[in-house]
Amino acid sequence: MKVFDITDSIFEGMTVYKNKPEKQPKLNPVTNGYVTESRIELDVHTGTHIDAPLHMVTDGDTFETIALDHLVGDCKVFDLTEVEDRITKADLENLDIQKGDFVLFKTKNSFEDTFNFEFIFLAEDGAEYLSQIGVRGIGIDALGVERSQPGHPTHKTLFAHNVIVIEGLRLKEIEQGQYFMVAAPLKLVGTDAAPARVLLIEGITQ
Ligand SMILES: [Zn+2]
Repeated sequence: MKVFDITDSIFEGMTVYKNKPEKQPKLNPVTNGYVTESRIELDVHTGTHIDAPLHMVTDGDTFETIALDHLVGDCKVFDLTEVEDRITKADLENLDIQKGDFVLFKTKNSFEDTFNFEFIFLAEDGAEYLSQIGVRGIGIDALGVERSQPGHPTHKTLFAHNVIVIEGLRLKEIEQGQYFMVAAPLKLVGTDAAPARVLLIEGITQ
């Protein structure tokens, strides 16, 4: 059994969405005598995280509605490092994607350590294709599943079909194939997302 940690590290100065300073985490160690208790200030979309529908849908479901049993189980990693600009339906049609699958897309993004405004994202027709199949969830190695498409059609299509969205994965070391995934988000209540530790385990299946 081999365990791969595909989570981004959280620290001050890490890569954040569009390099916005207000999205930087703040880690404030408070020391009183020999006792240190740090406080953190964190955007819920920091690093590797899972989105809830509320993120893009007014009055949408909040984070606790995402069932943990959908986040722990078999998943498929697809190598899409040849894809330029965006992942379209045409890039996905020949892949072995079935109803109920959790699919992770490894792209060129995994090889970049700074924020690229032209990051590879999932196009609307790709989101529609995956929604029609009925995948359980999708994960991508970008801090967004789309850039700033007007109306955010990729997010909305996925949320409308109850497809879970994990963003900010780090997949450089991961080869295409099947793994057992443990995606364990912070147990936040009422939020539009939550940071998560995401592990892939090779050699066990459900
Ligand atoms: Zn997000």
